[in-house]
Amino acid sequence: MSLSPPISSATAIIDSQALMNNFQQIKRLAPHSKIVAVLKANGYGHGLARIAKLLVQKQIAVDALGVARIDEALALRAAGIVQPIVLLEGVFSAEDLAIVAVNDLQVVVHNHQQLTAILHANPQQLLEKKLKVWLKIDTGMHRLGIAPQEFSRFYQQLKQSNNVSDPIVLMSHLACADDQQNSSTSTQLALFAEITSAINEPKSCANSAGICIWSQSHYQWVRPGLMLYGVSPLAFKPADFSHFKPQLNLAPVMTLQASVIAIQKIKAGDFVGYGNNWQSSQDTHIGVIAIGYGDGYPRHAENGTPVLLNNRIVPLVGRVSMDMITVDLGNNSQDKLGDIATLWGNGLPVEIIANHASTIPYELLCNIKPRVRFIVK
Ligand SMILES: *Cc1c(COP(=O)(O)O)cnc(C)c1O
Repeated sequence: MSLSPPISSATAIIDSQALMNNFQQIKRLAPHSKIVAVLKANGYGHGLARIAKLLVQKQIAVDALGVARIDEALALRAAGIVQPIVLLEGVFSAEDLAIVAVNDLQVVVHNHQQLTAILHANPQQLLEKKLKVWLKIDTGMHRLGIAPQEFSRFYQQLKQSNNVSDPIVLMSHLACADDQQNSSTSTQLALFAEITSAINEPKSCANSAGICIWSQSHYQWVRPGLMLYGVSPLAFKPADFSHFKPQLNLAPVMTLQASVIAIQKIKAGDFVGYGNNWQSSQDTHIGVIAIGYGDGYPRHAENGTPVLLNNRIVPLVGRVSMDMITVDLGNNSQDKLGDIATLWGNGLPVEIIANHASTIPYELLCNIKPRVRFIVK
C-alpha cells in the first residue's frame, strides 16, 4: 500500500504541450488574425501568471493578453510579463488612467465616463504617453458597448484626442456564437460591418466560438479564452459530444486528479454520504477520493457523474463533500488506496462533468480553489 504516491490530494496538472497545441489550432482557424489570449479569472482557473508565462515563450509568442480587471493586469506586470495587456472592461475610474499609463496597459472604452476620462486626462498624469484604446460597440448583446448611433461621435473624439494613439481597435462581442443555428450572430456581425466597414482600423469580434464557427468574425484580432485551455466553446447535446470534439482538435490543458484515500465494503441497501443521498442496490465497494467542493469539484454533480479510475469510468455516488467524493467501484474492485482518479481533463472532458453538474465548463474551471496543488509539465 502506498500512501505517498506522486499525487495525493487534489492536484491540477497543467499540460504546456496541450496549450501550445490549442494555440496552434487557433492560428490554423484564424490564420490572418493576431491573438489576444484571454486570462481573466485566474487564467480560467489555470493560474494567471502560470499561463501567461507559457504563452509568452518564444514557441508561442502570443500577441497580447486580455484580462477583466486592472488588478489582474498588475499581477501580470509584477510577474514580469512585458507583452501588451488589454483591459477588456476598461478602467472603472478616471484615476486608474495613471496606472494604465505607468504599466502600459491598453483600455477598452465602452461608455461615456471612460471617454470623458480619457479626453480630459492631464497629459502629465499619463506621463505624456498616448493611450492605446479599443472602442467597444454594442451590436446586440446589450451588456458592454456604446450604441451604434453613438459610434461616430466616440470615434471622432478619440481620434482627435492627443491622449489617444493610433490605431484604435474597433470591437464588439457576440452573444450566441456557440450556437451555429442562431441567426443573431449574423445580425450582430452585419451591424458591426455596417458601422465600421468604411473605417480603416483593426477590428475584433471573435471569442472562442466565433473563432470556431464564424470566420467572418475573425478580423485583425481574435480573443480566445476557453478554447485556449482545450475546452470546446460549442453548445452541444451530450449525445453529440463525441462527434464534434475531435474535429476541434483541442487538448485539455488542465487535468484534475486526486487519490483514493479509503475503500468501504458495503451491502445492498446501504446508504452513502450526507443525507443518505444514495442507496446501493447491490453489494459493492465504495471508493473515497480526496477532492471535494472545497477544491472546486462541483457540489451539484449528480449521482452517476463519471470519474476516471484505473482506465474505466466509475460513477459518483452520494453527495459531494467539502474534501471528498465517493464513487461506486463495483463488487469486484481491484482498486487500492493511493490509486489516482481523474476528475476531468485528459480522458474525461470537463464539458461532460459540467453537463452532469448543470453548469458550463467555464464555471468549473474558474472555481478551482487555491488549495489545489498545481504541477506544470
Ligand atoms: C471572456 C471574453 C472573451 C473570451 O471568451 P471565450 O468564450 O472564453 O473564448 C473574449 N472577449 C471578451 C470581451 C471577453 O470578455
